[in-house]
Amino acid sequence: MSWDFSTEPELQEQLDWMDRFVREEVEPLDALFPNVDLTYDKSRADIQAIVRPLQQKVRERGLWACHLPPSLGGMGFGNVQLALMNEILGRSVWAPSVFGSQAPDSGNAELLAHFGTPEQKARYLEPLLAGEISSTYSMTEPQAGADPSEFRCRAVRDGDHWVINGEKWFSSNFTLASFVIAMVITDPTVPVHRGSSMFLVPVGTPGMELVRNVGVMKDRPGEGVHGYIRFTDCRVPAGNLLGEEGAGFRLAQTRLGGGRLHHAMRSVGACKRALEMMCERALSRRTRGGLLADRQAVQHAIADTWIQLEQFRLQVLHAAWQCDRHGYERARRYVAGVKVATPKTVMDVSYRALHLHGSLGASNEMPLVDMLLTGVVLGIADGPTEVHKDSLAKDLLKDHRPAEGLFPTTHLPTRAAEARRRFAAVLERHVANS
Ligand SMILES: Cc1cc2nc3c(=O)[nH]c(=O)nc-3n(C[C@H](O)[C@H](O)[C@H](O)COP(=O)(O)OP(=O)(O)OC[C@H]3O[C@@H](n4cnc5c(N)ncnc54)[C@H](O)[C@@H]3O)c2cc1C
Repeated sequence: MSWDFSTEPELQEQLDWMDRFVREEVEPLDALFPNVDLTYDKSRADIQAIVRPLQQKVRERGLWACHLPPSLGGMGFGNVQLALMNEILGRSVWAPSVFGSQAPDSGNAELLAHFGTPEQKARYLEPLLAGEISSTYSMTEPQAGADPSEFRCRAVRDGDHWVINGEKWFSSNFTLASFVIAMVITDPTVPVHRGSSMFLVPVGTPGMELVRNVGVMKDRPGEGVHGYIRFTDCRVPAGNLLGEEGAGFRLAQTRLGGGRLHHAMRSVGACKRALEMMCERALSRRTRGGLLADRQAVQHAIADTWIQLEQFRLQVLHAAWQCDRHGYERARRYVAGVKVATPKTVMDVSYRALHLHGSLGASNEMPLVDMLLTGVVLGIADGPTEVHKDSLAKDLLKDHRPAEGLFPTTHLPTRAAEARRRFAAVLERHVANS
């Protein structure tokens, strides 16, 4: 019997430490600097003076960059361990940064760790892992969001260099990053899954310019950190190719598979926190001579939230287990299912929590509007919900065949006729004897 929902005592001890550390020492940072964009800005001396000692404590505890192998200073955690860990980090805006596992740097570090040359690791990965620099992942294009087969940004080999031309859209944190990992077309004569490659482009390389920063949701015009980037005859040395030529799509799938799962794991943590807020509010606020908690509608909202969260958490943990067992490629349907469930769960839970807090919930004095908007964005970023539902359904359909006759195989009269044929002799004997 191998089903087991318990956690090994050593890991549980680490998780308990993390839970206390995040609540007591990291969450105050969220209160001081709630803007998530600041977590990427390594130039603010006041912030670094607080963050670096916290990062040091995490290193001493052996919990730094747990998604990376020990040879790179990480813990080599599997996805199930990472899921349990990330649901604690998901409570806080700053916690992923304090634990060296912040997206997109964590995914970019994974790419460099798996596919980088020793020179690339020394120049880009080491300072990234040390938390000294930030990075950007540049894949989406303005005319071709979710569909890489529409990508046009191209790199052409010219002697010892590659020359890049084209545009990239929504490259998060470009202005705070030291380098970009760009996925571009290197051979337009073959399908994109064989004709794209990844390049490391240091910020400041001539020919790579910021057209403008794009904001999301509550950002005002001119605010925002998502770079609209243009490459014009941008030359990078041949040594800046990451992985093999033509392997860009495969690298992207590896990176995004893990990334999508990590977002889901952190979302579990954010939802757990919202449920805590709901319970506290229900027990604190009075109405019509009683507590909100005494009202059946409020009790149902709390129960529905717990049930939805429990289902989602188990789905995420099971997808993580599938990835550990079979790898991202064979666990694709589980990751796609989680990607679809994540925004819905975050939106449902944050909406209920916001609603229960009334005007306070809708105000900028609570984190619930931000959480609700994060849910909306999670349904778009890393590919819209529809695309993941499509690929999930296609994958499921591969396991099935069309019915042979006129009616489905579960058609009751057809099945009854088959069963009568099968047991005809027994039934006839029974009739004859009675
Ligand atoms: C906050 C945020 C951060 C991001 N960060 C990065 C980053 O760092 N690097 C990067 O490269 N990209 C980034 N992105 C871009 C993100 O990956 C894209 O937004 C995503 O791939 C979808 O592309 P799109 O926005 O152009 O939407 P589109 O592809 O235009 O899709 C818009 C809508 O069209 C419909 N649709 C699209 N395709 C289908 C389909 N096949 N079937 C049915 N309906 C469909 C859906 O309703 C979908 O929501 C980020 C996006 C956000 C919102």
